[in-house]
Amino acid sequence: MSGRMRPETLIRPALRALSAYHVADARGMIKLDAMENPYAWPGELAEAWLAHLRDVRLNRYPDPAAHALKSRLRASLELPASYGLLLGNGSDEIIQLVAMAVAEPGRVLLALDPSFVMYRMIAAFSGMEFVGVPLKSADFSLDLDALLAAIECHRPVLVFIAYPNNPTGNLFPRDAIEQAIAAAPGLVVMDEAYAAFANASFLNRLGEFDNLLIMRTLSKLGLAGLRLGLLVGAPHWLNEIDKLRLPYNINTLTQLSADFALANQAILDAQARSICRERAEMLEALRALPGIQPFPSEANFILLRVPPGAADGLFDALRAAGILVKNLHPAGGSLRDCLRVTVGLPEENRAFLAALRAALERFQ
Ligand SMILES: *Cc1c(COP(=O)(O)O)cnc(C)c1O
Repeated sequence: MSGRMRPETLIRPALRALSAYHVADARGMIKLDAMENPYAWPGELAEAWLAHLRDVRLNRYPDPAAHALKSRLRASLELPASYGLLLGNGSDEIIQLVAMAVAEPGRVLLALDPSFVMYRMIAAFSGMEFVGVPLKSADFSLDLDALLAAIECHRPVLVFIAYPNNPTGNLFPRDAIEQAIAAAPGLVVMDEAYAAFANASFLNRLGEFDNLLIMRTLSKLGLAGLRLGLLVGAPHWLNEIDKLRLPYNINTLTQLSADFALANQAILDAQARSICRERAEMLEALRALPGIQPFPSEANFILLRVPPGAADGLFDALRAAGILVKNLHPAGGSLRDCLRVTVGLPEENRAFLAALRAALERFQ
């Protein structure tokens, strides 16, 4: 045994310095923390899905190229045949694949700050330097001068821009993003995880920028449990990235179920429209609460700033009332005093608002 390396010496220092991605225990709670679609499928649809799965041969490996699902996705997104399409086990896996494709020690992955935490985590996993460009602290809007200066100074090989942004919910101005894409020396991935709730996309702009890739996911649309993300872009990029993809990363049940769900996409789209209506009502109700500053959102969640020092207490009070939201206060910086709530079912949103109102009264 002597001489055998211990975790302190064997595990990469950059990995030991990280803490694991924490997922809160949500059992028995009204779950408004993770941007899931709250709606169930109608009974007949669920039955038809089960019938669709009846003939699955689980003894066989999945189709490694996911042909049927890919042609369904191409039709659904109206993708020209000239674009490549790569599938991931959630878009989280795609972030990892793209990072692995360009990672070298000393190279920079750049994102806005605050934004999706996986960009920073995966930069660390893949041994890249992370540069976060602060959003304006008053309203989380884009500081274009700062972004262009950071691109010029750090020459990032990879830029991720969540559009709309998580956890802030806003969209950045289209022309500012275009300037950033044009200035970037490396790849720019527009992460359109919330496209179903926003009236904006760069998908039809792919042909104009050689360094642009578009990432989507079915998670926020209503299929978070399936884990399916997708990347669209020029084949000369995607063919290289695809070499890193493990052969059977999209399992058979996901391929069949996603194909089935997209054949019935009108139902998911109608659910997204309901969520957008509820979002408008929730925003108005939050604006009427004393001491609460909600930020306008183009996604299926709302970021809110609460009275100074009250975030942890309000989060605990909501949890005690059976409602789980995301407490962003521990992240610090411009997210100090902030909570993020996912738009749920109408009755869940009412329960959240009532519990928040009651908790605020106790804090006055
Ligand atoms: C939720 C989220 C993702 C992750 O999506 P999965 O496909 O479930 O891995 C990616 N990007 C952003 C901005 C998100 O908010």
